[in-house]
Amino acid sequence: MNKELISFLIPAYNEADNIKELRQRLEKISQKLINFDFEFFLINDGSNDQTIDLIRQWADQDKRVKYINLSRNFGKEIALIAGIDHVNGSAVLIMDADLQDPPELVEKMIKYWQEGYDDIYATRLSRDKETYMKKLTSKLFYKVLESSTTIPIQKNTGDFRLFDKKCIVAIRKFRENQRYNKGIFDWIGYRKKEITFHRQARFSGKSKYNYFQLIDLAINGLTSFTTTPLRWATIFGAIVSIFTFIYIVVIIFHKLFIGNTVSGYPSLMSVILFLGGIQLLSLGIIGEYVGKIFYETKNRPLYLIEDSNLNQID
Ligand code: UDP
Ligand code: MG
Repeated sequence: MNKELISFLIPAYNEADNIKELRQRLEKISQKLINFDFEFFLINDGSNDQTIDLIRQWADQDKRVKYINLSRNFGKEIALIAGIDHVNGSAVLIMDADLQDPPELVEKMIKYWQEGYDDIYATRLSRDKETYMKKLTSKLFYKVLESSTTIPIQKNTGDFRLFDKKCIVAIRKFRENQRYNKGIFDWIGYRKKEITFHRQARFSGKSKYNYFQLIDLAINGLTSFTTTPLRWATIFGAIVSIFTFIYIVVIIFHKLFIGNTVSGYPSLMSVILFLGGIQLLSLGIIGEYVGKIFYETKNRPLYLIEDSNLNQID
């Protein structure tokens, strides 16, 4: 009997301390799910620790291991695409290397896949050991994103999910440089199924994302997904214009019928500063989009591969 192939797609950046444990857990899963064949597809995203050596070692001992070694650190979003471009499975499971996504959920995901769902994604119920600030900012981000688009947004969803092959084929068509994968995952549609889990703390090491990178990810997410911020700038500009017009009429009447009174330095300053602020903000918003166009028109490759074991003949 021909078994179906399931690919685990795992981006890894400086995860040397997690590879061994990851391997053990994956092996446990594959032993349990005997009705499937497995492929462990690892993307080394320019790590500067032992990650790639450990992956190579693993690949030497286990034929199911495929790896791509990127030429430098491209960031998780791009590393994932490198994997999506090359995986072979009829189902692809995207998972972090740090074991924050419990591999034990995999069984449940596969079950739903067999029931006919195409995109089974895990939503976080809790965020162990994440700071209050991180929780709050993430909540705010989803609120803004949700209010600015018509596509249903999956909140608190990481990249831990199972895709049917048809989703993978669809995602391969998105060649944008400035990408926000989660937005693309929402965009493609297909039969989606949510499962929930409690996110664990990292097995070892610490998160690669600091606050600046999270802000960057948030702005990137918003601007590559929707032009609504531009619309806000327009609407706000329109409202302010209406008020200023009314105020101008009031001033003229004042001058004509009551006479000029030179006063109002505070109100003058507030108006100038307020409008100056709004103008800079609007310019910034426009700038974000112009920047996106700049990067997109260069049409650069999304990633470069230094080496891989994809074409080796066993
Ligand atoms: N990662 C990557 N490239 C990067 C940053 C992270 O491939 O530039 C990988 C990392 O090895 C891990 C996953 O993306 O497998 C999630 O990263 P991390 O745990 O730092 O993010 P968090 O869990 O804090 O969201
Ligand atoms: Mg993590």
